[in-house]
Amino acid sequence: SCYAVGLHIDPARTTLVVTDLRGRVVTRVSRRTPAARGPGRVIGALVRAVHQIVERSGVPADRVLGIGVATPGPIDPGGGLVVEPPNLPGWHSVPLRESLESGTGLPVVLDNDATAATIGERWAGGEARSADMAFLYFGTGIGGGLVLGGRPYRGISKNAGEFGHITVVVGGRECRCGNRGCLETYLSPHAIIDDAARRRGEEPPRLPRGSAATVEYYGRVCRAAAAGEEDALAVIEAAADHLGHAVVTLTNILDVPMVVLGGWGISGIGDLYRRAVTEAAATQPIARAMRKTRVELSITGDDAAAVGAASMVLHTTYAPRFGGP
Ligand code: BGC
Ligand code: ZN
Repeated sequence: SCYAVGLHIDPARTTLVVTDLRGRVVTRVSRRTPAARGPGRVIGALVRAVHQIVERSGVPADRVLGIGVATPGPIDPGGGLVVEPPNLPGWHSVPLRESLESGTGLPVVLDNDATAATIGERWAGGEARSADMAFLYFGTGIGGGLVLGGRPYRGISKNAGEFGHITVVVGGRECRCGNRGCLETYLSPHAIIDDAARRRGEEPPRLPRGSAATVEYYGRVCRAAAAGEEDALAVIEAAADHLGHAVVTLTNILDVPMVVLGGWGISGIGDLYRRAVTEAAATQPIARAMRKTRVELSITGDDAAAVGAASMVLHTTYAPRFGGP
């Protein structure tokens, strides 16, 4: 049999999997991304991690077809570049594909993290995941992916589904992408942390992107909200309200039968988010009258993007028409 490596870079954590041809995970590892140290250090760590996971999997190295990489966008998959992701400080047109290919000796395909997660979810979900769906990825940033007519939809520049950077408040909060009022500025872990601090009358803590402290603080707020603690719940509900309206906009455009919410950022609060989206749809005249969109929580969990990335290698090799870039 043959195998592929799937690699998912979220600014907070990196997940690697080795999968077989059916997408079954043979081995997985998840670790912190040294995001604050810049692209050189991150890539060095990735190269070592790929060697380690292949070794640990016990799979013969010459049976590994390649590496699928899921990275925050925007990306230039043709040139193998990560262009300027809002949540990876210091990354400007980083030649990720070339660096990983020369470091590992394996061919590399690159895709947007949320698109890869969408592919992973669809692959793992089978019948439960429809041929048309939108997937919203909640990580350090907020992203999106689309499957239309059973195929991933990537758009003309391969950056379709930048859901986190649609404007939900005109002239609103400053976003790291350079725009104002992006959904991400109300919904990302950093936004939630800042809002939770402000609500308690504290200064926003300004934690580094993807730091352990960020994940920990955010987890606390989510757990408190899920337990019904008033302040935390108010913060999550305000964010969920923006999410609800944004999803209604998405379904107004696409009229897809299914919207899936996934990624590590919804752990514990997925149901709150799902309810908010359903409520927003019920109060929007057109959405209420017309839409049959179901909102569901991801079934693939934390490995969706890594598994989706691995599947890109397999599809590029065996069935380029399905998932290949
Ligand atoms: C980026 C997206 C990415 C998302 C999740 C956003 O800030 O613009 O490309 O999918 O974060 O990482
Ligand atoms: Zn933005």
